[in-house]
Amino acid sequence: APQAEQHEFSAEVGRLLDLVVHALYSDREIFLRELVANAADATDKRRFEALTDTALALPGNASIRINPDKTSKLLTISDDGTGMTREELTQNLGTIARSGTRAFGQKLDSAKPEDRPSLIGQFGVGFYAAFMVADRVDVTSRKAGSDDAWMWSSDGKGSYTLSPASRSTPGTDIVMHMKDDAEEFLDTWRLRSIVRKWADHISWPITLRETNEDGTSEDKSANEGTALWRKPKSEITPEQYAEFYRHVAHAFEEPYATLHWHAEGTTEFTALLFLPGARPFDFMEQSRESKIHLHVRRMFITDEAELVPNWMRFVQGVVDTEDLPLNVSREMLQATPVLSRIRKAVTKRVLNEIKTRAKDAESGFDAFWENFGPVIKEGLWEDGEHRQEIAGFARFHSTHDAALTTLDDYISRMKDGQDVIYYLTGDNMDALKASAQLEGFTARGLEVLLLTDPVDGFWPERLNSYQDKTFRSVSQSHGDLEKFEAASADTAEPADLDALIPALKDALGDQVKDVRSTVRLTGSAVVITSEGGPDMAMQRLLRRSGQ
Ligand code: ADP
Ligand code: MG
Repeated sequence: APQAEQHEFSAEVGRLLDLVVHALYSDREIFLRELVANAADATDKRRFEALTDTALALPGNASIRINPDKTSKLLTISDDGTGMTREELTQNLGTIARSGTRAFGQKLDSAKPEDRPSLIGQFGVGFYAAFMVADRVDVTSRKAGSDDAWMWSSDGKGSYTLSPASRSTPGTDIVMHMKDDAEEFLDTWRLRSIVRKWADHISWPITLRETNEDGTSEDKSANEGTALWRKPKSEITPEQYAEFYRHVAHAFEEPYATLHWHAEGTTEFTALLFLPGARPFDFMEQSRESKIHLHVRRMFITDEAELVPNWMRFVQGVVDTEDLPLNVSREMLQATPVLSRIRKAVTKRVLNEIKTRAKDAESGFDAFWENFGPVIKEGLWEDGEHRQEIAGFARFHSTHDAALTTLDDYISRMKDGQDVIYYLTGDNMDALKASAQLEGFTARGLEVLLLTDPVDGFWPERLNSYQDKTFRSVSQSHGDLEKFEAASADTAEPADLDALIPALKDALGDQVKDVRSTVRLTGSAVVITSEGGPDMAMQRLLRRSGQ
């Protein structure tokens, strides 16, 4: 018999396995969704690789096969996908290469039980879900383009073995030795209903082996396999839309908005896009590129086509076009005018949806803004074409009240003679609200925007103005205050500073440019300001990055 080598899981995997198995007990059926999704991903991948290497071509009847066996208590999921080499089995199933996994473990630890499934889904630790229902999992895989097959086997308790195996065609078999209390997942009716619920839209055929009365068995189709976005809107239920959203976005909530349309004309495409209902917990750490899936005639091509600007990267979903060849190459994707036309149209449509919702007080837009405002504001900085439109719907905290405000509302409250929009940036809202910088402004009824996101240190200068009103940081607006009367006129005698100021100048020397009396303070004794130079938050950011 071939020698099986034993390997230890990396420490993270061990921990993660423990959490996944115990945290998700009530939602065990999602193991099937995770494994079918992996099989579909692997089949997509092989189809894509075969575009440039015909030797890797999929068999004409490529499918995902689910085979329950009640007698032996085994559940097998097989695919014709790209498969895994010995190294890939080790890498993909034995370690966690992904960054941020530790953060995930901590999050999962501290999350409420009901929030845990969504964390798992977002993080795509999907394969390990198999250990919720199985006390041993054997993965036999043969890489497309190779003759060698390997078996990875583990009880999910700290180690796994690798041994040479055989498989007549490329692809992967996941064999689960089901736990005694998980036998429900060997029932065909149960499996069929789970596939219907979680995987109906997967475009590869999914079959389920059923045993007939006479003891013979046959593979029966278990999914519709119609690409949901290709169906007419009238035939799609809200529940189907939501399910598809959860699938593409790795989410568990309802989408905030669903956009489904077919474009004809110079470029023909169908789009099914979603504005998410929640912010993925690691969203700010993820890459800045959009991950909208590009399909050509229903076939998945890539999620790296960057179909919307970076500041719209929260948008999830699918764009499917007739106007590109199926064997489109990476170079071609970068150069083709078809994609730039699609990009333009998609961006415009999403922008319009956001603008419409921003105007509708009933639409729950503030919650959406709390989720994605910090990213949308990157557009104020780097998207010259849409900068002013974004400024039109952007929301801000301000000294006016606790609610978020638009710039238009700010402008409508401006004092007579006020011609600039004042703002103050910092890391923390409470510190900002208590800042001595605000005193002179508050005393004069001048409203100040309070900005705490990292990008807030940059965009005001770049945006420059909105509705002809320029932005000015209060830390650079010292001179403006003299124009306005303080609400509570200060009747106290001006203090005699003739001796104090030279003494302070003397003591501080080169550390300051000047020491002056000011009208901007009402409660505090001193405040540090910068005039003419870059905004203070910017100075801090530059200092942090070592410039
Ligand atoms: P994710 O799918 O989010 O990457 P998973 O835990 O579900 O995370 O899977 C981990 C990795 O294992 C996948 O990225 C893939 O490389 C590999 N893998 C899992 N199942 C298969 C399969 N059926 N065929 C080929 N590779 C697979
Ligand atoms: Mg997966």
